[in-house]
Amino acid sequence: HSKSVRLFASAAPTAAFAGQKGSNGKYTVTLIPGDGIGPEISEAVKNIYSAAGVPIQWEEVSVSPVLKGGKTVIPDASIESVKRNTVALKGPLATPIGKGHVSLNLTLRRTFNLFANVRPCVSIKGFKTPYDDVNTVLIRENTEGEYSGIEHEVVNGVVQSIKLITWDASERVARYAFHYAQSQGRNRVTAVHKANIMKMSDGMFLSACREVSKEFPSIKYDEDLLDRVCLQIVQNPKPYADRVMVMPNLYGDILSDMCAGLIGGLGLTPSGNIGRDASIFEAVHGSAPDIAGKGLANPTALLLSSLMMLRHMNLEEYANRIEKAALTTIAEGKTITGDLGGKASTVEYTQAIIQKL
Ligand code: NAD
Repeated sequence: HSKSVRLFASAAPTAAFAGQKGSNGKYTVTLIPGDGIGPEISEAVKNIYSAAGVPIQWEEVSVSPVLKGGKTVIPDASIESVKRNTVALKGPLATPIGKGHVSLNLTLRRTFNLFANVRPCVSIKGFKTPYDDVNTVLIRENTEGEYSGIEHEVVNGVVQSIKLITWDASERVARYAFHYAQSQGRNRVTAVHKANIMKMSDGMFLSACREVSKEFPSIKYDEDLLDRVCLQIVQNPKPYADRVMVMPNLYGDILSDMCAGLIGGLGLTPSGNIGRDASIFEAVHGSAPDIAGKGLANPTALLLSSLMMLRHMNLEEYANRIEKAALTTIAEGKTITGDLGGKASTVEYTQAIIQKL
């Protein structure tokens, strides 16, 4: 394999794909188009897959909240679909700020125990950015930390938000990170933390990483402070190309957007939410309400997420072909979307990729 083939790989040793081909020779995959630009970028992926003859059929479901027993929940049929198929591709979901229903993203992560969020961020050859050698992989603990959703007002004017760290979740994501590093030929795992301040919570996260590191003698292990890592990556991302970074939830959320900024923005960065029984692949970006419905969205991040999914399903050849077509289209720069400095619509860009398949 050439190096680029592995860029958006999704090694999932603790969560192997268990789906079965149907009688038509195709796998069924759940598709959650999502909100805002979600339907537009999902359509782009569907069209590229049809043109490439990828042997999957989509089972399209909505996760718009419905009222059940006085609570807003995700429709049962949608949950069942993901359970049955064990893989899903998901568009962004808008989350109300400050009030309203619980984040549907969090609900999905909890329902399927999607414990590891894998976020690769790789410079696209030929597309000009300040650095041309960004190649980071960040693995974010995906179920707890500051995102546990446990908040209360202690007294008027004083709010407490609980950051929850457990040994089990820390150990599980650490082990995933080491497996991922091993299978992707990365020789180091760096745990990113703020244990200088959060001595107990991040301290325990680090202890779990250290314990797990003993199981992987061939992989180097080290630890670094989040703020230092931010500074170092924006000054020189190259040293981070040899490793996998693993970290608690909130740090991963923020650091991955920073990395995205180095390679051309959120239109380009994919992710996979890996669980033991199901995995959900989605772009790092949100629903982009400012450009929704205008045909301007860049579908690359969702497309690359879907390629992580194909590799997870051992459909490597299709992933390679589509990846090459998309990256060449961007490198040529003639038919690219506005976020990358071009003038093409979502549909024009999609067609340009299809012509290269
Ligand atoms: P956002 O990622 O939606 O948008 C940030 C900026 O990036 C916007 O200017 C947007 O136009 C641009 N952008 C994002 N994706 C793009 C693409 N594919 N092509 C071109 N430009 C793109 O972040 P936000 O505005 O903070 O959030 C909007 C909503 O999305 C919120 O409700 C938020 O909670 C939700 N959100 C959902 C997810 C998810 O479903 N996983 C992730 C992040 C945010």
